[in-house]
Amino acid sequence: MSQLKYCQGPKCHTHDTKDRKRGPKDNKRNETRRRSRFHYLGGNACDMRCQQEWFDVYGSRALDHFGRITEAKVLTKDNAWSVRRDWNNDNRYAYNYLTEEHRPLTQQQYDNENIITNDGQLNI
Ligand SMILES: [Zn+2]
Repeated sequence: MSQLKYCQGPKCHTHDTKDRKRGPKDNKRNETRRRSRFHYLGGNACDMRCQQEWFDVYGSRALDHFGRITEAKVLTKDNAWSVRRDWNNDNRYAYNYLTEEHRPLTQQQYDNENIITNDGQLNI
């Protein structure tokens, strides 16, 4: 069994649900949810409410920490690539959505998560 981790929502324990209740009858308390997997906040929050509450508390600080966008980002033909698959003939290709260019990809290239960089450049 995989290791349990706590929901990172700062107010998770304040949401009154049955599954958060712990302790004997005379000393009930609510605890932060603990699971092997979460599906919100990149796998770190138990639900959308906890995800939103995390953002309300930490979002601005996270932007300050990792760096804000301070000038316009620009999409050009050099970073307008995406990976696509034609379900009619099962061909895989890189598609440039500014120039509409198609470049055939091998299955290995198609499966490579790094074939398109984070900023949209084709990495062949
Ligand atoms: Zn939570």
